[in-house]
Amino acid sequence: MELELLSRLQVAMHDDDVAAMVVTPGADLQYIAGYDAKPLERLTALVIPRDGSPVLVAPALEAGEARESTFARHGGDVITWTETQDPFLIVADLVYDGASGAIAVDDHMWAQRVLRLRQVINDRPQVLAGSILNDLRQQKTSTEIELLQEAAAAIESVHRLVPSMVRPGMTESAVAHRISAAIIDAGHTGVDFVIVASGPNGANPHHSVSERVIGVGDPIVIDIGGTMPGGYRSDCTRTYVIGEASADYSAAFEVLRHAQESSVAFVNGQRTCESIDAHARGLMHDHHLDGRPLDDYFIHRIGHGIGLESHEEPYLVKGNTDLLKPGMAFSIEPGFYVPGRFGARIEDIVVCTEDGRRNLNTLSRDLMRIPA
Ligand code: ZN
Ligand code: ZN
Ligand code: ZN
Repeated sequence: MELELLSRLQVAMHDDDVAAMVVTPGADLQYIAGYDAKPLERLTALVIPRDGSPVLVAPALEAGEARESTFARHGGDVITWTETQDPFLIVADLVYDGASGAIAVDDHMWAQRVLRLRQVINDRPQVLAGSILNDLRQQKTSTEIELLQEAAAAIESVHRLVPSMVRPGMTESAVAHRISAAIIDAGHTGVDFVIVASGPNGANPHHSVSERVIGVGDPIVIDIGGTMPGGYRSDCTRTYVIGEASADYSAAFEVLRHAQESSVAFVNGQRTCESIDAHARGLMHDHHLDGRPLDDYFIHRIGHGIGLESHEEPYLVKGNTDLLKPGMAFSIEPGFYVPGRFGARIEDIVVCTEDGRRNLNTLSRDLMRIPA
């Protein structure tokens, strides 16, 4: 664990009157301890006291993996427990050895663990660690940005192959199968999601795949992402068409493309999260499709943070008045979704920088034509 990160955490714990933070397997543990532990039934927990040194509590049979973590390799203490011991009592002892105050539990801790911790540490309030951790995790270091850049390049290389993988007459699931293999070939260790939404299925933003046969003239929304070896995620959407799209679709898509590119250019550290979302909607509002302003069909927020999780803070949505800060990484992904007809989305990953923004994607945002 980086000493600088530990001291920032402990300062925040002082400010929030948190006695100790307990972090179980997941993105928070990977972020703090460089330990990508499997979330299994036996308890693994990093206990970070407000004062003093953190301790990793791990099952004896996973001692090898625990000692390979960045945390342990940098000299962090690992306490192992055997099958007949109660690891929650070990955690309780560590907590009671330290200061008084609340116990912060990681946001994704299993309910059975939260409740068991409440049982063994029954005189301390529980709070969410996210109120401290999310602030830190949102502002990526230059190392993290480079890992996200590698992830973006990897997923773009898959998009570059898409025109050669799709033919009219194939099902969405057959296309998705090829894309999944390409995601791994591009250097990811795992496939997180593959959305192939053709024709009317494009109107459902989170459609995954179906047995629908892709036909000539269909627009296809392809939104794909995976996990890279360092744990950082990729996420990129491009929209394709087999042959020629209808005139009203093509015109709306041009407005969307302009709104997406303009929203990326609108990003800087003086702007709020919600203002980026509003900017895109404003640009889409003057264009009409089937008698309604195009932004009526833009039914989700414009973006989400990305890092060790595909979706994390900050969320770029109406109501989020937080300012963007240098180091924040997030998607800019406006779309339009017309029930029964079609959909479209364009998604890049953008980093807010000291002097504006950096788009991690370089691939064309045009409607990508696939020969019929
Ligand atoms: Zn989503
Ligand atoms: Zn996406
Ligand atoms: Zn996304």
